[in-house]
Amino acid sequence: MSSLLNELDVLSAEALAEAETLADTEALEAFRLKYLGRKDGRLTKVLSALPTLSGDEKREVGKRANALKGAIESSLARRRQALDDARITSELLKSKIDLSLPGTPVMRGGLHPLTRVMEEITDVFVRLGFSVAEGPEVETDDNNFTSLNHPPDHPARDAHDTFYLKDHVDDKGRPLLLRTHTSPVQIRYMRSHTPPVYIVAPGRVFRHENVDATHSYVFHQVEGLAVDTDISVADLKGVLTLFAERLFGGQGTVVKTRFRPSFFPFVEPGLEMDISCTICGQKGCRVCKGTGWVEMLGSGLVHPNVLRAAGCDPEKYSGWAFGIGVERVAMFKYGVDDMRLFYENDLRFLGNFS
Ligand SMILES: [Zn+2]
Repeated sequence: MSSLLNELDVLSAEALAEAETLADTEALEAFRLKYLGRKDGRLTKVLSALPTLSGDEKREVGKRANALKGAIESSLARRRQALDDARITSELLKSKIDLSLPGTPVMRGGLHPLTRVMEEITDVFVRLGFSVAEGPEVETDDNNFTSLNHPPDHPARDAHDTFYLKDHVDDKGRPLLLRTHTSPVQIRYMRSHTPPVYIVAPGRVFRHENVDATHSYVFHQVEGLAVDTDISVADLKGVLTLFAERLFGGQGTVVKTRFRPSFFPFVEPGLEMDISCTICGQKGCRVCKGTGWVEMLGSGLVHPNVLRAAGCDPEKYSGWAFGIGVERVAMFKYGVDDMRLFYENDLRFLGNFS
């Protein structure tokens, strides 16, 4: 009998110590089988030996064994509870939100300065009653040059440094090119609309230029065209002066304009418009090179050959047109002296405009 009681003592010490080390549910189950398993459990084996014992021994060993069984079962239950508590606590900690932590910043986007300026220019004319027209960037040689009074072999073509498309021609076998100005939209629009025509055409244009502070092989223009009966240079000057005042003036800034004769094949006469330097108030600065004036755009009365090429009778209609460089306006407006900054997509630069 003493050997069974000794065995129970050893079993009790081992089992109760081991119960405290159980780390997960698999270990709990293995522990239960090890001591209480119906076939091979260590305590089960002691209990199965009871019938071989005499009355007193049976009672004593039976009492101790049952007490140990109860102790093992309650250790198991406690341990299971402790493991559950630990798991829940750790899950709660994981999902805990610290409301005092700073949030994740969300970057705010904004329009690119060139888009913004192009929209501002367009907007001034839309408010004056002009419609917005668009044309393709791949153009026919005819729309880009011939119909705009640049016949083949005309020297003015050379000034454009044109990108021609290799191995591509239009449906009449004539060369295709990347438009060098937005002026072909004039031709397209006049061919499909009867005057009165009042349009602005913003868009990208392409020239084979080396990139530097004031040149790029892709840049932006806004073209303007008015065709009606009885159009004169006075209309052109009036509208473009109003445009300059709206775009650069306001808040006490007075904008003056002046027109100088110039030559563009598709207008006659051609006029270049300068505006008074709003940066120095015409006192003379780096931007206006000390002159107090800044070149702003080219314009003129539409050449009769252009009207004719676009299907408008120059005896009945006359018109005026202008082309304005968006980059030039943006540089002047924002005081940027290198055009390349607009194309480098450096958010530290672009962020100043949003
Ligand atoms: Zn100036």
